Amino acid sequence: MDHQQARRELAAAFRWAARLDYHEGIANHFSAAVSDDGQEFLINTRGMHFSRAQASRLALVTTTDRASDPVAQNVDATAWILHSFIHRNVPRARCILHTHMPYATALASLKDFEFLMLDQNACRFYDRIAYDRHYAGMALEPTEGERVASLLADGKDILFLANHGVLVVADTIAQAFDELYYLEKAAQLQVIALSTGRELQIVDNETAALACKQWREYPEAAELHFAALMDILDIGSADYIK
Ligand SMILES: [Zn+2]
Repeated sequence: MDHQQARRELAAAFRWAARLDYHEGIANHFSAAVSDDGQEFLINTRGMHFSRAQASRLALVTTTDRASDPVAQNVDATAWILHSFIHRNVPRARCILHTHMPYATALASLKDFEFLMLDQNACRFYDRIAYDRHYAGMALEPTEGERVASLLADGKDILFLANHGVLVVADTIAQAFDELYYLEKAAQLQVIALSTGRELQIVDNETAALACKQWREYPEAAELHFAALMDILDIGSADYIK
């Protein structure tokens, strides 16, 4: 993808994460690879509120050599550790979105939780979720970045981080944001259904696998969704592209 277009799309993803309340002000982090080898990527700079994200305010960094890079020095330490290891070790993860969005994080904080195949949106994630069940504090050590990246090594696209949040990886920014959106929608529904205390009607594995396949083959769904979101920003919030 064109580097400037990647900047605009990633800025739009931050703006919409703020609108949908997936963010925590200046915390949480999104990145997108811009080089063919995936080693060069855009990421938010320290102190940038998600609701004020702009294309020109994103840092362009590489997966190595943070110490000598003044731009990389302006990236949050935990963001750097997590995203640099995933971009380096998981090449298919062109876009990485990490949030502590409330409903998914609530589920990630339940003991031994498995994402339930409870509705059509949830079935989109059938057999695509990995779990990190051992919260180990903030990811400030390289070993922690490497450990988290290894959890995505077997082809999973979604990672539930116990007592912490979620991480989504995808080939494009539009695809990653679409995943994040439906993940939180499905998580919200699960929290509501669990709160009733009634017996849950779980979709069987065969049907869930079918629905997942149908989701993934649905033409241009993520691209059209993200284009519509950018259209809305163009009315009144068009400075995100600056
Ligand atoms: Zn986090």
